[in-house]
Amino acid sequence: MIQISQKCVGCGKCTAACPFGALSLVNRKAVASAACTMCGACVSQCPVGALSLPATTAVKKDLSAYKGVWVFVEVGNNGQTQHVRSVGYELLSKGRELANQVGEELCAVIIGSNVSPFFAEMSQYGADKIYAVDSPAYAQYNTAAYANALGTLIKKYNPSVVLFPSTFIGRDLSPRLAAELFVGLTADCTGLAIKDGNLIQTRPAFGGNIMADIKCPDYRPQMATVRPNVFKKVVSAPGKMAQVVSEMIPLPAEAAKVRVISTHFDPPASGVKLDEAEVVIAGGRGMKNKAGFDLLENLAAKLGGTVGASRAAIDLGLKEKDKQIGQSGVTIAAKFYVACGISGAVQHVCGIEHSDVIVGINKDANAPIFNVCKYGLVGDATQILPKVLEQLKK
Ligand SMILES: Cc1cc2nc3c(=O)[nH]c(=O)nc-3n(C[C@H](O)[C@H](O)[C@H](O)COP(=O)(O)OP(=O)(O)OC[C@H]3O[C@@H](n4cnc5c(N)ncnc54)[C@H](O)[C@@H]3O)c2cc1C
Repeated sequence: MIQISQKCVGCGKCTAACPFGALSLVNRKAVASAACTMCGACVSQCPVGALSLPATTAVKKDLSAYKGVWVFVEVGNNGQTQHVRSVGYELLSKGRELANQVGEELCAVIIGSNVSPFFAEMSQYGADKIYAVDSPAYAQYNTAAYANALGTLIKKYNPSVVLFPSTFIGRDLSPRLAAELFVGLTADCTGLAIKDGNLIQTRPAFGGNIMADIKCPDYRPQMATVRPNVFKKVVSAPGKMAQVVSEMIPLPAEAAKVRVISTHFDPPASGVKLDEAEVVIAGGRGMKNKAGFDLLENLAAKLGGTVGASRAAIDLGLKEKDKQIGQSGVTIAAKFYVACGISGAVQHVCGIEHSDVIVGINKDANAPIFNVCKYGLVGDATQILPKVLEQLKK
């Protein structure tokens, strides 16, 4: 919130300048409400210099005091059972590699209610230590409560790296913590590595046309989010049990501002969720119309898979928005992925490259999709697919 000093003369210029109506005069002094976004519009308007923004630079710290790779392991709930979201295990698997490289501990942080059943599995994916904040008060996600709990742990134990899943919760929690801790945050990383003791966070930039390597050499912890299916799950320590550190952290007063009254789970618009499907048949602009996409639906039904699409096909209204694959859609890690009438733009390819077997069907032999395919068929997909379906019928 904006800081108001004793110099305030109650002229009211700041109240007029505030675009959010967050400033008012009380007893001839300016007072800021919770609506203040710290945009700073009022600061230059004050004729007596009574307004200022809080310091926004971190004090450089002794980096050697920060040790360990942490993963925020998210507890999901599908309306019936709670489970650890698979991306948590993917991040632990990658975190294990990073921790080995720097010779430090891999720690999982889990916040929720009744989370101990997950400890064994988290250990098998490589966690040396598990920090658990386990209380009915944390049964439902609450931004202020979770940020306070995780922030308290980070300040207490000083990790060097903190990884978050790029889920709704991870995307809500991580920027709030980054702001509070005055550290950087790299969103939607597609690669993580250690170089000269720094975390190299790779992500697409400039519309996906370049891959940027980002590092934060001066501040700690180094924080990044990663989408589901970017890294593979690897059980690196079967039978191992991590050391569990239970922490009791009371809810902050701010948590009471938000009360979850009910939760509604939307099923996917159709079929299996793309990011969980083993077989994905996708269509692009080259499939042209509904008849083209019907061919894809038939093939997916035959192979027990689901249908996805490129952004161009989504824009044409050939598939629902939640079926878009790529940089601004879903990242998949299918066992078998078929791209039909998809050119293979970098923004699409970054969402499929973690699939095991990629097949492309395109009438242009020079289409970039063939650069990432294991098998390529050059030809008209609307003619090839009926033949494939016929063979499968036999
Ligand atoms: C910031 C940003 C984010 C983006 N995010 C995404 C994203 O998440 N996902 C995504 O997909 N795109 C995304 N895009 C768009 C991306 O750049 C491409 O425009 C898009 O992927 C192209 O879709 P397409 O391959 O279906 O269409 P086109 O590029 O038009 O390719 C159509 C292909 O079909 C082939 N073809 C035509 N007819 C036939 C036929 N009968 N049989 C076989 N082949 C045929 C053509 O040879 C061509 O290769 C993004 C772009 C930007 C700038």
